Amino acid sequence: MIEIKDLHKHYDTAQGRIEVLKGIDLSVPEGSITAVVGPSGAGKSTLSHCISLLEKPSSGQILVDGKDLGALSGRALRAERRAIGTIFQNSALLSRLSVAENVALPLRNLGVVHYEMQQRVAQLLDRVGLLEKANAYPGQLSGGQRQRVGIARALALRPRLLLSDEATSGLDPESTHQVLGLLDSLRSDLGLSIILITHEMDVVRHVADEVAQLAGGRIAEHGALHELVASPGSATGEKLLPLRA
Ligand code: ATP
Ligand code: MG
Repeated sequence: MIEIKDLHKHYDTAQGRIEVLKGIDLSVPEGSITAVVGPSGAGKSTLSHCISLLEKPSSGQILVDGKDLGALSGRALRAERRAIGTIFQNSALLSRLSVAENVALPLRNLGVVHYEMQQRVAQLLDRVGLLEKANAYPGQLSGGQRQRVGIARALALRPRLLLSDEATSGLDPESTHQVLGLLDSLRSDLGLSIILITHEMDVVRHVADEVAQLAGGRIAEHGALHELVASPGSATGEKLLPLRA
């Protein structure tokens, strides 16, 4: 279980201070997908960067199974941050490395022995349905396939949370469908918590269990997808209509 408590983030720029996140509280239960939606500039990517610790929060806590990541450093922090896997918008694969080498990278960095690494990479590629592409290069794959390799790589260190920032933007409907189907099965088979940042309401309708609407640096609305849609006063619910059965 991942919990975000009273998270604040500001940037100091030449034009002055920009308060982006003004106290975010969000918990993502195991085995569920929480979609984070909100207008451009609302702070969705900033939230993602704070959770993956690419950016240091100005204040607040990120708790992984009750452990505050901000209170850890060095080896303990490195161990805990493995709990969080990130999928990037453009998949961020290294073009000079094969698919298998890309997926192996986090394991190599950790010093996993060769044989074990090969086994694990094969397992991961099989999980995302791309074992036969192990020796291909990213440039030889479709966008959806690249994204699935990115997911395999994000899974390499057995995270408990997958963080996805616009992972399906720019994909055609068929590839989007495959990526979402994969995320859906990871949630149910591995019990992963998934934070899915997206501006695509179709994506939210398709896979989200819960939806959090980010606006003005705060969570303006948060609830189960079906409850938001059924609630007459919900602006988020309204955007999500009509909901497919
Ligand atoms: P989009 O839907 O367009 O991706 P977003 O919700 O992801 O938008 P963010 O990228 O988190 O929005 O940006 C939120 C605000 O923070 C914006 O006003 C942006 O200009 C500002 N911001 C983001 N990163 C930085 C930075 N490194 N330095 C200064 N300001 C920043
Ligand atoms: Mg963004």
